Amino acid sequence: MRCMCPNCGRKIDSSHLTFDFTEYIGNEIKKMVTDGETRADCEALFNDWQETPLLENEETLYSYPSDLNGNGGVKEKYVRYQLPYDRILKRAKSGSRNTKFIQWMEKNRERIEKKEMSLWLRKTGDGDIKVNQVLTKDGEPVAMVRRCPECYGVMSYWAGRYPEIALTVLGGPRTSKSTTLTACAYAFMTGNGDIRWEGAKDDKMWQFFQKNYLDYYRKGLPIKPTDDQDDKIPKISFKVTFKNRNTPICLTFVDIPGEFNGDQGVNQKVYQKYKNYYDNIDFIWYCTDPAEIRQLEGKAAEMEQLQSLGYERDQEIVKNPSLVSNMRNLSGFFACAERHVPVVYILGKTDSDIISEDEKQEFGLFKAGIDPVQDVLDVRRFYDQSKKVRSYIDKHNRQLLEEFENDFPDRCYIAVSAYGFYPKKNREERELCSFNCRMPFYWMLALRNCLDIRLVVEKRGFFGRIQWEEQVHALGVFPGNIREGILNNLYMHGSNYRI
Ligand SMILES: [Zn+2]
Repeated sequence: MRCMCPNCGRKIDSSHLTFDFTEYIGNEIKKMVTDGETRADCEALFNDWQETPLLENEETLYSYPSDLNGNGGVKEKYVRYQLPYDRILKRAKSGSRNTKFIQWMEKNRERIEKKEMSLWLRKTGDGDIKVNQVLTKDGEPVAMVRRCPECYGVMSYWAGRYPEIALTVLGGPRTSKSTTLTACAYAFMTGNGDIRWEGAKDDKMWQFFQKNYLDYYRKGLPIKPTDDQDDKIPKISFKVTFKNRNTPICLTFVDIPGEFNGDQGVNQKVYQKYKNYYDNIDFIWYCTDPAEIRQLEGKAAEMEQLQSLGYERDQEIVKNPSLVSNMRNLSGFFACAERHVPVVYILGKTDSDIISEDEKQEFGLFKAGIDPVQDVLDVRRFYDQSKKVRSYIDKHNRQLLEEFENDFPDRCYIAVSAYGFYPKKNREERELCSFNCRMPFYWMLALRNCLDIRLVVEKRGFFGRIQWEEQVHALGVFPGNIREGILNNLYMHGSNYRI
């Protein structure tokens, strides 16, 4: 099963994910070295592990001689592991200060190669991987996380277990990127819908997400942006399960740069640096808010309206020319990668007073506490809602809308309010009354055949009479011409609903 590294953006086969054996091998070797000077050499070598860690991947480990521990379906497997002599020597030779150690290695070749260790390969949880932890025979941890073989970054617990959707969330500062993600995650983690998201309790990033995002959000408090982490998107994966489908999916959030300092044109250096992401990302959420759409002028310090949308005192709204050039550059990067990536334009904070009550109603932007759990996506309703949100943006910022539509041909519009109110610091906890937070994910699932689509199809009945028939299927099951019509609606191609 292939999975995306959230640290470098590459796609990797899960059997090639690696375990870092540097510390373990280092300790085993140190035990064998008795001479003081050689030992110092050896320690220096293994302490300096980051540049060339000693990695083993699932495929290699599994190919070692083994004794099955008897319980057939193998959640644990015992292997007889040999120290990788050649690799250790090569590593020592790549440094300049390891002469003593190299001599020792060469003298003791046979002894090192003969030494056999016992390791337990353990797999916890289900999904399409063979091992996610390695322990010594006494149960001491050797490597408890899998790493990317290219950048050595830590992969999530769910990586490579299920088919994956990789998603990134973009938008200007304070457009509620991480709040939108948190609200969606929370909606699918609670309640009793058919679709559930689940974090992995052992993942460091999951623990971080829970502590710094979810725990604030669920109490109706603002998610704390720290200095070095302005609205940062956590690199995190969820297991998504469906009541009516056997195969779960893995949903992975990655953080790619969405702003390019307003430069016009695609900067090849930036493109090369992040090329893997542009090659492999499946969906984008592009977050905006009413202040950005309306292009409110001035600093938050002087304006109650901006403050009420969570902007910092000295912060101004990003102006249209920068927004436009950012969008153009971003789409240029995907064009370089020859990709059409589906984008949801998410209009957040729609509870705000900046939008009048009349407008909220006219454009279907907000109703407190309306966050419907759905088991199918009604394509006509979706189209109508998306069109209304589009009309609101068109009314207040046609330039931005036109640029967005030029840049991203496969897109839709969704209005969202993560809290249903403006959350304030140091306030009492308050009950959430979110609006529409699940919708962006439903849209993605429908496009990926993971959520059924409801459609009314025209049929010719007896004597040529027109009849209407409701059909509910996964997108891929509809015949080609109807499927095309559905896609036209889900991507808002054209100004009318028609299939
Ligand atoms: Zn990587």
